[in-house]
Amino acid sequence: MEKIKNYINGQFVDPISALWMPNINPANGETISLVPNSNAADVDQAVQAAHEAFPAWSEMAVEKRCEYLLLIADQIEEHFEEFAMLETLDNGKPLWLSKKIDIPRVVENFRFFAKYVPTVKAFSVRKGDKALSQITRMPVGVAALITPWNLPLYLLTWKIAPALACGNTVVCKPSEVTPMTAYFLAQILDPLPLPKGVFNIVFGTGLDVGRPLVSHTDVKLVSFTGGTQTGKQIEKDIAGQCKKTSLELGGKNAIVIAADVDIDQTVDELIKASFLNQGQICLCGERVFIHADIFAIFVEKFVHKTKKIIVGDPLHKTSFMGPLVSQDHWQKVRQCIAQRVKAGAKVLAGDETLQNDKGYYLRPTILSGLDQNHSCHTEEIFGPVVTVEPYQDEDEVVKMINNSPYGLCASIFCKDQDRAQMIARKIRAGTVWINCWLVRDLRVPFGGMKQSGIGREGGQYSVDFYTEYKTICTAL
Ligand code: NDP
Repeated sequence: MEKIKNYINGQFVDPISALWMPNINPANGETISLVPNSNAADVDQAVQAAHEAFPAWSEMAVEKRCEYLLLIADQIEEHFEEFAMLETLDNGKPLWLSKKIDIPRVVENFRFFAKYVPTVKAFSVRKGDKALSQITRMPVGVAALITPWNLPLYLLTWKIAPALACGNTVVCKPSEVTPMTAYFLAQILDPLPLPKGVFNIVFGTGLDVGRPLVSHTDVKLVSFTGGTQTGKQIEKDIAGQCKKTSLELGGKNAIVIAADVDIDQTVDELIKASFLNQGQICLCGERVFIHADIFAIFVEKFVHKTKKIIVGDPLHKTSFMGPLVSQDHWQKVRQCIAQRVKAGAKVLAGDETLQNDKGYYLRPTILSGLDQNHSCHTEEIFGPVVTVEPYQDEDEVVKMINNSPYGLCASIFCKDQDRAQMIARKIRAGTVWINCWLVRDLRVPFGGMKQSGIGREGGQYSVDFYTEYKTICTAL
């Protein structure tokens, strides 16, 4: 059985505790590797290494740093198939999806920031004939990068690439549930001439590794993606330490279907926006509001197509959905469904016939008929479960959408552009898509409002986050 190692100061090392945890393939429940159960002592070593590597790395020319990013991108591309396979084994996402979305976006993360960051200019301001102020950007220091299991390498590299390009050194803490792609990244990066200590990974749980990492006094910046409760805990743990912090948190995203849509085409989009990656994408919709004029026919077609979705072995090309990521998560999602049914929801699609004693499979589930004020409408499920409800007019739907502690994203499907824009402007969410979903442009800010997060990443916004301004004012 392969024992994963931490990567600290350019060395693969065992956890100091000499303890490992099983890493389970969710498609069959079998252990595929052992993941280090590291603790604060490992974190300390990694932060120390990153701290010592910081001065030389931050003073290196930005173009040179970005050459390393391009080398990493080339290596990932060369090992594309292995990355995709590891992600599928670790996470349960269909192999075709890993190849189509996750791994290409991993490569794009490195290439984009390698090209973009060197173009960010310093500037100067002149105060008459008295003084000249030069404003430059400084890297922040050691960055703690903490990520969840749903898009394991895609989310991690979205942090690593801009952090390194801007001159920070990093200590990564991927989810212990999906460690394989991060470990493989360390393996392909190790032979490259990247200075030791610039890139470190410590594997382990949130409690034993995540908490000591964010609280470490030599960590100057925390970039976290995960659940809202964890984000709040991190805020408490680092209170009073003046760290730069970005929190990308949970959501309860809404999708609006107007009366004028092409029904068949929109049902196809809705299937993706609800059930891609088993609904385990923070941007998936969980609340679907359909105009009352087309509600019955739209739901009939949505239910019909959902029942035809193939759920099965993620290695098979025909499987649209694989298993959920872990037994714990599978149980949590099933409990959420049971609670909603108990509260009066009708099950329009979904059953448990796929449950077996091996993989953590669940059929895509459509529920309806719950009161809008019920807590089930506001709590994130993070699985292949959506509710469908009718709405009469725009004011009503905006009110229902904004009746949520979250504000990550929303989608509106509507031919009438003016009407769509009007709804979009009133929704309190970081991203609103009109007639599309999951469109990604690394130049635009990404992040949520309300309890979906603080801080923004993407293009200029990542540069803002991973650097701080410095002004040197010289008398003339
Ligand atoms: P968690 O918040 O449970 O975990 C995220 C990461 O944080 C994991 O690596 C976890 O470690 C670690 N962690 C847990 N506790 C702490 C702590 N106290 N201090 C520091 N780190 C800690 O989220 P999940 O992994 O379950 O991911 C699902 C959630 O992520 C959903 O709510 C989803 O909406 C959200 N998400 C948000 C995105 C966004 O961009 N807004 C994108 C993707 C997901 P470990 O699990 O190994 O113990």
